Amino acid sequence: MDHPSSTTAPLTRRVFAFAEGDREQSALLGGKGANLAEMTRLGLPVPPGFTITTDACRDYLRLGRLPDGLIKAVRAALQAVEQETGKGFGDADNPLLVSVRSGAKFSMPGMMDTVLNLGLNDKTLHGLIRLTGDERFAYDAYRRFLAMFGEIVLGVQGALFEELLRKQREQLGVATDTQMTTEGWRDLTRRYLRLIESQTETAFPSDPLRQLELAIEAVFKSWNTERAIAYRRATRIADDLGTAVNVQAMVFGNAGEGSGTGVVFTRNPSTGERRLFGEYLENAQGEDVVAGVRTPLDIGQLEKRAPAIYTQLRELAERLEQHYREMQDVEFTVERGRLYLLQCRGGKRSGMAAVAIAVDMVKEKLITREDAVRRIQPEQLVQCLHSRLKEGVADKARLVGTGLNAGPGAAVGQIVFDAETAVRIGKPGRGEEVILVRRQTSPDDLPGMLAATGVLTAEGGRTSHAALVARQFGIPTVCGLRELEIDEERRLVHCNGHALREGDWLTVDGTTGAVYFGRLATESGKVTPKFQEFMNWVDELRTLGVRANADTPEQAKEALEFGAEGIGLCRTEHMFLGARLPLVQQMILARTPAQRQRALDRLLPLQRGDFEQIFRTLGARPVTIRLIDPPLHEFFSDLEADTRRAVLALRVIEPGSRKLARRERLLLRLEDLHEANPMMGLRGVRLSLLHPEIVAMQVRAIMEAAAMAELDGVRPHVEIMIPLVGMASELRAIRGHLESVVQQVLKETGQRVEYRFGSMIEVPRACLVAEDIAREADFFSFGTNDLTQLTYALSRDDAGPIVRQYLADGIFDFDPTERIDREGVGRLMAMAIEGARRTKPKIKIGICGEHGGDPDSVHFCHTLGLDYVSCSPRRVPVARLAAAHAALAVEGPADR
Ligand code: ADP
Ligand code: MG
Ligand code: MG
Repeated sequence: MDHPSSTTAPLTRRVFAFAEGDREQSALLGGKGANLAEMTRLGLPVPPGFTITTDACRDYLRLGRLPDGLIKAVRAALQAVEQETGKGFGDADNPLLVSVRSGAKFSMPGMMDTVLNLGLNDKTLHGLIRLTGDERFAYDAYRRFLAMFGEIVLGVQGALFEELLRKQREQLGVATDTQMTTEGWRDLTRRYLRLIESQTETAFPSDPLRQLELAIEAVFKSWNTERAIAYRRATRIADDLGTAVNVQAMVFGNAGEGSGTGVVFTRNPSTGERRLFGEYLENAQGEDVVAGVRTPLDIGQLEKRAPAIYTQLRELAERLEQHYREMQDVEFTVERGRLYLLQCRGGKRSGMAAVAIAVDMVKEKLITREDAVRRIQPEQLVQCLHSRLKEGVADKARLVGTGLNAGPGAAVGQIVFDAETAVRIGKPGRGEEVILVRRQTSPDDLPGMLAATGVLTAEGGRTSHAALVARQFGIPTVCGLRELEIDEERRLVHCNGHALREGDWLTVDGTTGAVYFGRLATESGKVTPKFQEFMNWVDELRTLGVRANADTPEQAKEALEFGAEGIGLCRTEHMFLGARLPLVQQMILARTPAQRQRALDRLLPLQRGDFEQIFRTLGARPVTIRLIDPPLHEFFSDLEADTRRAVLALRVIEPGSRKLARRERLLLRLEDLHEANPMMGLRGVRLSLLHPEIVAMQVRAIMEAAAMAELDGVRPHVEIMIPLVGMASELRAIRGHLESVVQQVLKETGQRVEYRFGSMIEVPRACLVAEDIAREADFFSFGTNDLTQLTYALSRDDAGPIVRQYLADGIFDFDPTERIDREGVGRLMAMAIEGARRTKPKIKIGICGEHGGDPDSVHFCHTLGLDYVSCSPRRVPVARLAAAHAALAVEGPADR
């Protein structure tokens, strides 16, 4: 790293008027600044202003003070705004007020700070009163400024301002701010001033220029607030980008009737429907809407109350969307019947809306198919298949209330009342399903929202921060359920006659806005025609194959629905569980070969049935079946405990009995099977070599099933996979044995079946000697779960707390159990591929670990030249899109 220099280059410009920039400059001007510039360039009604660059922020964070010359440049830019508005900054007769707004390269809604009405003091206040003839409005603006400036710039606790406001309302007996009298606001400004002075122990900075300087610094500093950092983690935005600051002439939505403020989306951010969507608050300033403190009116109301404004707004929104070729989120304010645009940006939307909008825009010829594919993040597709309430379970008797459907999807969880609890017991903590229930969410609640399965708030609308975050991260959310009364102290919530406590189960349906008590059944979303169409485009663009890991016929069906081209991993262990477990136990514990064969003979038809169904489901697509892998004692965990209990009991009630002797013998056998480190013990190919009857039975079942399917005209494509191979000789030995079983079955049935034998590559040694192993194998499949465990010598079962700590301490910058470690594990993979292809240039190679569904890992597999990845059925669409992105060389979020 460079040494921090104590000065900054004087020639670099750090301040640009809106009219000077454009949309391409979001790295320098921030997204908000670049778009304000673009709108200005298009001649749209944007109040004038200027942007201080992200460079200046980086300088500030490095130096700990504003860079030299910055304030001079700010003054010059301010003069231009004064000229354009005909007002003076600090002018007591005709004051210019400004907003000081943060805005980073990537929008981080609500994460950083904004100060409105800056430039007010006791003198300019009177100018404002004379100018507008509206004393109440002026004091309202002043008290807002004092509270925002006090909290954001001077560090006075926001709650103290709220407390004074609440008292003031009580004293005057008014329910809402809109009913507050002129005197009410005037008194409040005095109290606020006193509060600030007592808290900061200095006089309130009344000089507007000084206010501006302090506010600029505060916005720079807000880059590093806890919530901003948490947001960047969750969205993988780099920490070193910094924020720009926008200084802009104020327009007033709180200037009485005919004034107001709102937010519109050019399309519905939950569903994608092409229709203006949004909200509006009369006689209010912007932060009332976005902060979700007042529940606003639907934008449709504006159409009724001010049709001309509505039409103009719709036309401007449409124009912006056409210009950007992207759904827009537009902030606007109406001052005494005049419309101003204050911000536009690509609108955050749910996964479902994202796909629908992309597909619609291709049809509208706004974008190409490739653009559409590039625009969707792989993870967003998970949301498209979001869980929803099962048909028919929406029980009226359980309905607690209906709020606004702010984030689609259904969520079931236990009620918690604060973000910390959600983090402690929710997904990343103890992994419980929780519903975060709040009066309103503030940006500080972000970590809690991310930890929650669903969110419910009493206040706030569909464009509140809570709703934005909910849709972006796919958290089912209901906002603005007004009847909700939360008693945080007693951990109780009342709503429409229902009383619920913390820990009670709640079901939130963010698609309809309904909230139910108890746990209603959910099901996963279905593939829609638009989703299907989108995925077809994805498939045209990718070259990497995508299969699914599926163990049962049902999973196999699901996998095909989600577009898998085959099964990359069919585990056979589960086929030994449930009702079949006693048979398996008999087989393993058998004392004579005849006893063992009897048990195997009974298992055979059951296994054959499973495979036959899978083959019929998959048709001619490849099915990779892994022969038995886990250590044997896993089949005995219950039996061992039960036997131990029985032995103890019998020693008391039937000492010396035959029964006791039998149980004692069994217990000894069971204890014999125990291994100190089963992960590296008798499992995988070793188990097969020591107990070949089991895999012989499995292969017989597979081949008989395939032969039967052939008989019906299905052409199964069977791939038999041997796990945990570390040496070519292991594979040679077991394959020799199993080939004879195959030949026997084929002779018996008289069928021809396409089959191959292959090796899982999951032991580091296998990567090193892949050239040799490839001689014995028809295909390879990387088992990256085990390969990662064994490469790091880190057991997945024990990794949780270690990985968490490592991530927190920056020892890991990602979790290698989720994303392939390119440098270590990836190096071994590359080595194995190279070795294998030396022996067999066309050998088919895939991957079947959990990593197969991780976009970054898919990207890596594409680069390595693998033939396919295989992942769980629900991740298949994600992997397909990630593969298309890899083929298009789209940068992933990890590259931000
Ligand atoms: P955020 O990034 O959190 O949305 P903004 O900088 O957009 O913060 O400011 C929040 C709100 O303040 C805006 O939605 C807008 O309504 C209001 N606002 C900002 N600047 C002005 C201005 N110059 N005049 C009137 N309202 C403004
Ligand atoms: Mg904004
Ligand atoms: Mg394995």
